[in-house]
Amino acid sequence: MDTESSETVDNLVIGLGAAGIATAKLLSLSNPNEKNLALEHHFEPGGCASYFARGNPRRLFDVGATQLVECEQNGIQYNLFNLGHAHRDPDIKSHKIEYITFHLPEYNIKLLLKSDGEIKIIEGIIDENELKNLIRFFKFTNKNSTYLWSLIKTIPKFPIISKKEFFENLSIFFSLNFIGQIKTIFTIFFRTSTIVSLFGIKEEHVISHKVINSLLIDTAQTDMENTPWLVGCMGLSILHKGIYRLDGGMRSYFKPMATQISKRKMHVIYAQEVTEITHFDDGYFIKTIDRNKNQKNYVVRDNLFVNSSIWNVVKLFNEDLFLYNHKTFKKWKEKSEESQGWGALALYGYFNDDLAYPREPWYHQLFPDKTEEAELSSSLYLSIYQHEHDSKIRCFTATLHIEISLFKPNKKEIYLEQIKKRIENSINLQILDCEIATPFTYEKYTLRNKGQVGGLVANFKNFLFKPTPSMIYHYNNKSKLYLIGDCVFPGQGVISSTLSGIIAWERGTGHKFKNFIKGLY
Ligand SMILES: Cc1cc2nc3c(=O)[nH]c(=O)nc-3n(C[C@H](O)[C@H](O)[C@H](O)COP(=O)(O)OP(=O)(O)OC[C@H]3O[C@@H](n4cnc5c(N)ncnc54)[C@H](O)[C@@H]3O)c2cc1C
Repeated sequence: MDTESSETVDNLVIGLGAAGIATAKLLSLSNPNEKNLALEHHFEPGGCASYFARGNPRRLFDVGATQLVECEQNGIQYNLFNLGHAHRDPDIKSHKIEYITFHLPEYNIKLLLKSDGEIKIIEGIIDENELKNLIRFFKFTNKNSTYLWSLIKTIPKFPIISKKEFFENLSIFFSLNFIGQIKTIFTIFFRTSTIVSLFGIKEEHVISHKVINSLLIDTAQTDMENTPWLVGCMGLSILHKGIYRLDGGMRSYFKPMATQISKRKMHVIYAQEVTEITHFDDGYFIKTIDRNKNQKNYVVRDNLFVNSSIWNVVKLFNEDLFLYNHKTFKKWKEKSEESQGWGALALYGYFNDDLAYPREPWYHQLFPDKTEEAELSSSLYLSIYQHEHDSKIRCFTATLHIEISLFKPNKKEIYLEQIKKRIENSINLQILDCEIATPFTYEKYTLRNKGQVGGLVANFKNFLFKPTPSMIYHYNNKSKLYLIGDCVFPGQGVISSTLSGIIAWERGTGHKFKNFIKGLY
């Protein structure tokens, strides 16, 4: 370990995905007199919420995430963006999505879920009782999620890693009224499937099951059987809560944030991959390599924030004997080996039909046809961007979750054709040009091992699993390690990653996000 020729920093953020950006932005504000550094393997910030350009004329596509929650005024993403931002420019400009259209070709059904929980059948027939129960269920979910969404603004510590955090969460709990307390207990210990069945939605109500499960796979990456009601309730109410498509795509959020961080004297280096982490007496020893194969090493004295999936982290620390024998690390290894992994297939493309869509962004969930390959059995999330740059082109990102073990690389072209057909048949528009991204693409660009998207925590079995190992104080009794990102916070998506980044920053620095919002820093 050549620590002599290494650069020493106080705090290091590895990876500038949604989580790393949240942590880095807050660090740059809270610890301006320390040496803070962020390293990102890619050329751009954002990770799965980044973008890429294609074609001539150049068109920009969102890589993964196309919509954001909590970006309305005083939402968490909104506050994070505006914190310490002197001129409030550029601001976040967004459009709220008011409904999701579900297309179920096998049943000749097309229905529309509105943000108030009402459901409108556009095509086909659905049993009157089933429909009534489904609407009641969504209305109940919307109503009950409101207080949960307000609770996350208090940044509860989750999963709890110390007694102090247990009492912090307890004080949030006791600040609720009695009904709120009962509801909180209720949400933690019930499965989503239990609540669904309480509303008279039975196994044979296939349409309802498909709609609920597809929304859950989109937000929590598991089905109703495996999703704790706490996560399920929030995931299913996301439309009511408010999902937004940003004008100019995700880059209009993450790119300016990365610029804000650099302007605050926090050094941000792109195209630099961390290849190995080892623990030693003075902190962490970090090996990195850039795109020209130049190596550079760092020593991290205080806080190390790693924005990478648990599978990657296990790989990065593999040679560290201390961690290797540590109880927590052993558990991660075990969990990551036994866990079923999800990957994504995504189709990026465009239509050339200005008149076919209204001005607001469109969001569809398209279910498979019987004729499709068995691997493509999950619903497809089609997000059509709003009119951009006065062009007649409608760009889209369509995502399909796939179990990694089912993905067959040699079928790439077949997958592309089938996904393309699924989109064209559902919305009666011809795709002019498109290309496919596979789990390998995600592995290459976001360094997700085997292209696994999401993490372990969302399912019921892993709900209280503690992958954030900040309890491992090192020999120097100072350096701490935090995993951040969608592998550590229950529920998936940008907001979960952001929250994990904020929680880790609070843990590492002792500051409070809510005080920063009030300008107390
Ligand atoms: C196809 C798809 C569609 C999605 N749609 C939505 C949506 O509409 N709304 C929503 O909220 N969420 C959506 N999600 C989920 C959301 O994009 C992710 O949960 C979130 O962006 C993950 O952020 P993260 O910070 O946890 O991880 P990542 O985005 O993976 O960020 C990790 C970053 O760390 C970098 N990194 C990793 N390892 C290293 C290393 N060793 N050295 C240097 N850098 C490293 C990576 O390059 C990457 O930039 C979607 C995801 C996918 C894949």
